[in-house]
Amino acid sequence: MLAEGLRAEATIDLAALRGNLAALRERAPRAALMAVVKADAYGHGALPCALEALAAGVRWLGTATPEEALALRAAGIAPEQARILCWLWTPGGPFARALRAEVDISVSGQWALDELLDAVRATGIPARVHLKADTGLGRGGCQPRDWPDLVDAALRAQAAGLLEVVGLWSHFAAADEPGHPSIVAQQDAFAAALAYAEQAGVRPEVRHLANSPATLLLPDAHYDLVRTGLAMYGLSPVPEVGGPADFGLRPVMALGARLALVKGVPGGHGVSYGHHYHTPGETTLGLVPLGYADGLPRHASGAGPVQIGSKWYTAAGRIAMDQFVVDLGGDTPEAGDEVLVFGNGEQGEPTAEDWARASGTIAYEIVTRIGGRVPRRYV
Ligand code: PLP
Repeated sequence: MLAEGLRAEATIDLAALRGNLAALRERAPRAALMAVVKADAYGHGALPCALEALAAGVRWLGTATPEEALALRAAGIAPEQARILCWLWTPGGPFARALRAEVDISVSGQWALDELLDAVRATGIPARVHLKADTGLGRGGCQPRDWPDLVDAALRAQAAGLLEVVGLWSHFAAADEPGHPSIVAQQDAFAAALAYAEQAGVRPEVRHLANSPATLLLPDAHYDLVRTGLAMYGLSPVPEVGGPADFGLRPVMALGARLALVKGVPGGHGVSYGHHYHTPGETTLGLVPLGYADGLPRHASGAGPVQIGSKWYTAAGRIAMDQFVVDLGGDTPEAGDEVLVFGNGEQGEPTAEDWARASGTIAYEIVTRIGGRVPRRYV
């Protein structure tokens, strides 16, 4: 239910988030959980989701950018409450501030280690480092041929009291594609990276590899910690294998709006920019006050589903920056009536996964892009 007077609203169901964490714990009973709250918790709100996860007993938070990690500390999440790992660093990044804020730092290569050590010397605060191996994703992480040098350099810095290597980690390329040959190859490469580091003397507190799909499908990859994002928000990272309910998950975000206008138009009327839809006959159009500025994908033009009352309608013509149109046919909703753009599907409404399918993308992108212009309500 949309709050009184609002154009649109995203409802964030924190009880569902808690239930999802419990379901993930059951899937990975021997591993600790990291709540991945980067990108404003995939659009759900980093601070409220982080606090809910902490209240549910989670002790690790994960962010991509240092700004995200620092914002969590600035908002009052203390080091005693949560370790925060931040993994996407660029030269000149705020290493010293991260050290002062007791943020764990991922290191993928020599430049990062050098800058981090400069910050350690400047602040006098030893770093907690997670060395990241590129086991095949080909994105962040250290290539196998450079791994021994990175590990050895980190160990020298550890012996000098400048840092502690607390984590060894990597990230999957295709854990969401069961049977993809890269999965086994990455697991083998990770085992080799661990073996080198451990024989060289690293005693990691946590070894971690699994994201949501690996947490759900690859128990061998759980190690000491699983980094869950999408599944925590109740969406399935493997829709071809199963929907949220198949994994005991419930979608956390619902997006609703209020019809801004309802009007009769004659047949043959072009609708929205470019006139990619023409009314097949005399009909009623409804105006939904959400658009791509709110994060709805323009690629869902002509395809994105909504529910009004108990019936589904499709975005007719182009989704514009702030609004799109649905052809209500002979139905008679009124301006002000609620439009459910997506929800958890339990009332038969469209889901974020339906919007992903309608726009040729993944549910990750649908929820993450719901913009700051849409108020969040936490229930
Ligand atoms: N770990 C890293 C390094 C990531 O970049 C991400 C997100 O892409 C995750 C974990 C969480 O992935 P997922 O949302 O599939 O759980």
